[in-house]
Amino acid sequence: MSESATAGARGMSVAAAFAGMRSVAPVVFRAGCPDCRGRFELAASALRLAIGASSRTTFYSFVCPGCGAAVRKPAGERIVELLTGGGVSTLRLHSTL
Ligand SMILES: [Zn+2]
Repeated sequence: MSESATAGARGMSVAAAFAGMRSVAPVVFRAGCPDCRGRFELAASALRLAIGASSRTTFYSFVCPGCGAAVRKPAGERIVELLTGGGVSTLRLHSTL
């Protein structure tokens, strides 16, 4: 009976299941562009998050897929949580240490 447990750990069924789950549920964020007023769904890789010393210097940015403008918007605590949880690359502008 212990043999089946070993076989399960070495099999690739678990890894395949997780890979499938990831591909069917990509994380997208809705963002509006103030320049062309378009609304877009952006993948996590299209966004950048910069965390400053205070909420005033914490913002997220992206390049508008519609007009190419560099958009920068303030990010509150909830947005920061959302973006970091979604795999957006984060840049810390100020060390809290
Ligand atoms: Zn735009």
